[in-house]
Amino acid sequence: MLRVRFAPSPTGFLHVGSARTFIFNWLYARHNGGTMVLRLDDTDVERNSDASVQSIFDGLLWLGLNWDEEYKQSERLGLHRQVAESIFARGLAYRDFTPAHAGESDQSTGPQGAWLFNPGMRELSREESDRRAAAGEPFALRFRVPRGQDRVLRFTDAVYGEQSKLADEVEDFALLRSDGMPTYHLASCADDADLKISHIIRGQDHLSNTYKHLLIFEAAGAEAPQFAHLPLLVAPDGTKLSKRRHGPVVSVTTYRDAGFVPEAFINFLCLLGWSPKNDREFMPLEDLAGAFTFEGVNRSNAVVNFTEDDPFDPKAVWLNAEHLRALPIPELAARLLPVLHGAGYMQATAEKVLEVAPLIRERIKLLNDAAAATDFFFLAQLPPYDVNELVPPKSDLAQARKILLEAQAVLATAAFDHAALESLLRATAERLGLKAGPMFTPIRVAVCGRRNAPPLFETMHVLGREVCLQRIAEALTRLG
Ligand code: GLU
Repeated sequence: MLRVRFAPSPTGFLHVGSARTFIFNWLYARHNGGTMVLRLDDTDVERNSDASVQSIFDGLLWLGLNWDEEYKQSERLGLHRQVAESIFARGLAYRDFTPAHAGESDQSTGPQGAWLFNPGMRELSREESDRRAAAGEPFALRFRVPRGQDRVLRFTDAVYGEQSKLADEVEDFALLRSDGMPTYHLASCADDADLKISHIIRGQDHLSNTYKHLLIFEAAGAEAPQFAHLPLLVAPDGTKLSKRRHGPVVSVTTYRDAGFVPEAFINFLCLLGWSPKNDREFMPLEDLAGAFTFEGVNRSNAVVNFTEDDPFDPKAVWLNAEHLRALPIPELAARLLPVLHGAGYMQATAEKVLEVAPLIRERIKLLNDAAAATDFFFLAQLPPYDVNELVPPKSDLAQARKILLEAQAVLATAAFDHAALESLLRATAERLGLKAGPMFTPIRVAVCGRRNAPPLFETMHVLGREVCLQRIAEALTRLG
């Protein structure tokens, strides 16, 4: 049974790197018919926050990828202690009463090498250790890493290949802190074993922790899972992506709020550190799940390209435009509706947006672009424009006026569907001896308030006779 887990610590918002870890776990599970577990690693009470839990769920729900089982480490502390006790009972851990370190939050923060050789505590007799513990002296529980046996710890990482390290180089890491809380290493391995996780897929920053985890699995009498570590996401300057350094671009919800669609964001994240055999880029989710294997994951760090002026990687934006175009119109319209309401276009009804969506889908890259691209469909009053915009190239105000007066007359009685509008207005152009371009410029600007707008006849059809005539009348007033 293939079982994978995504195990975020709720100590910040959902980071894009974590989202990618989640997605790769999900793809691997779906590709192989396995089970996806979500486990909140929430034992660090001082650093956890409800806001962070919320941000993780917000991000994951937006991605829309479901998981099969869900756990919280804080509800499993009994299991963690039990595993620690069994390791202790087998003589593979010892109590460390060192006061300076007894309260430290984790394992390896002592002075360099301090826990490689820790004879004072490691060699304490069991009697003395029991006596001091019974007297209520606080202690951390440390793993007794094998020393002086030239023992080599090995594993094969599905991405990084053969890995090995001398046990003599691994410090005596903590399993339990002096407040009785499990460290990440202990809680993670105890849960991975208990939840029968078969593959641990996580960031490359955990590669070196794996040696400690191998020792825990062995001491707990559990078989170690397979490991696959994923290359880090870095900024263009090569530094690891972090909120402190790089700000909101590292948070998943920033992409959501900017108008990315999850299909595109998932596609983009997958291409950071993974490439399919055929080097395709635009890929729907089913294709990603079908193609995902660890062989395609690179070992080198993946660069997310952004600048101060442009927070989003051009590839992410390009993929978003592609995915928007691939959405069925009703689906696109459904996603545009809340964006347009958010922009204050309360006149945007579901029916109206359904008509507008096909006219703008080639013209937007992010959902949020739709607000600027559709203002003239929804605002009662066009935003002000320069009257000279009404004048066709190499022409003058008088000509613009003439064209609009002709259009006004024709539109007053025209059947208001785009085919009829097109043939009528083209016939008018011919009658006036005008080319289509110059003829339609004043009409387009009068109706949309700008030259760069969706196809004119479809747009007029959606706007309807009343609005078109009213706007042409306004343009004529401006022309004087
Ligand atoms: N809670 C850990 C983290 O967020 C999980 C690491 C792991 O997957 O083992 O980094």
